[in-house]
Amino acid sequence: MKKTISVLGSTGSIGTQSLEVCEVHDIGVAAIAAHSSVKLLAEQARRFRPDYVGIYNEEKYPELKAELADTNVKIVCGMEGLCEIASLPQCDTVLNSVVGMVGLLPTLTAIDAGKELALANKETLVAGGELVMSEIAKKDVKLYPVDSEHSAIFQCLQGNKRSQLSKVILTASGGPFFGKSYDELRSVTKEQALHHPNWDMGNKITIDSATLMNKGLEFIEAKWLFDLVPDQIEIVVHRQSVVHSAVEYNDYSVIAQLGVPDMKIPIQYALLYPDRMECPTGRLSLTDYGKLTFEKPDIATFKCLGAAIEAIKRGGAYPCLVNSANEEAVRAFLSDEISFIEIGEIVSSVLDKFGTSEINCYDDVMKADTAAREYVRAAIAER
Ligand code: MG
Repeated sequence: MKKTISVLGSTGSIGTQSLEVCEVHDIGVAAIAAHSSVKLLAEQARRFRPDYVGIYNEEKYPELKAELADTNVKIVCGMEGLCEIASLPQCDTVLNSVVGMVGLLPTLTAIDAGKELALANKETLVAGGELVMSEIAKKDVKLYPVDSEHSAIFQCLQGNKRSQLSKVILTASGGPFFGKSYDELRSVTKEQALHHPNWDMGNKITIDSATLMNKGLEFIEAKWLFDLVPDQIEIVVHRQSVVHSAVEYNDYSVIAQLGVPDMKIPIQYALLYPDRMECPTGRLSLTDYGKLTFEKPDIATFKCLGAAIEAIKRGGAYPCLVNSANEEAVRAFLSDEISFIEIGEIVSSVLDKFGTSEINCYDDVMKADTAAREYVRAAIAER
């Protein structure tokens, strides 16, 4: 039977590539939603003919409505709209690729409605991992990771006994500033930080890749997705982004997933699982690369990474606090309010500023989120 999906964050890098995958493999699109890119969203609506189109930024609703006035597509807005789209009866799978922890409530809504999840919104698992995973278990819904590293781990687990897994090896490209000293990072610019050597992505994740916060978020995400303890996750810097991650079993056999650095492969695997169909990316030529390298990450220089790992070791609200502090700090960096190294300083300071608190429900997540954002805004204003 033909599969039908809803795409949250359809105008972003993962969203647009997901729609391409839908086109190639004849997957139906029930709904699309974006933050505020009206023009692209309207174009996508005409091309993919979804039943629903959602816009998160409510101020853009009239503009979108006008753009699509000659169609009979249903237009929804705000968080309510995202949640409506996440629970449509006509969709089988919700692909969530929104940026930031805005994605948490739509994720929980999709789970509640019994939808399969293709998850690219890593912040929701970071901020609400315990909550999301327990809801998934309760509702017995399937979760397919879209992030390339987690897709790689998921692929390496197929056909093996989960109980015999000893650890996972999470690879990191190292970002544009790998090898730089802390002093050298003082002078890096926004333009340099926005230029990633291997992957073409949105601004938030590109900055997270430069600070290595992205790997910290993925570390936490891996913990929840694969039910690991932090000591079972090793981060290895692999500059070529060809080995997307690996797993080690009790016999010390290490199984890795390799491919060209193109998100269409993990997107397609999440949507077509367990099928493997030809992907428009083309094949990997190992001899073109010649050499693959592996190094230890520099956690002392890239403070965000150390802070994220410490946060998940402490547990409770700490992962949510570092994530929200990071979202605020990256926003401030992108609007030229703070320097590159201040992102790491702000994110790691959260570990000292906040005491332990538990996350038992969605409101606990939102409280921690608000507290971290207020703290960061005040800290920036005080300088
Ligand atoms: Mg990744």
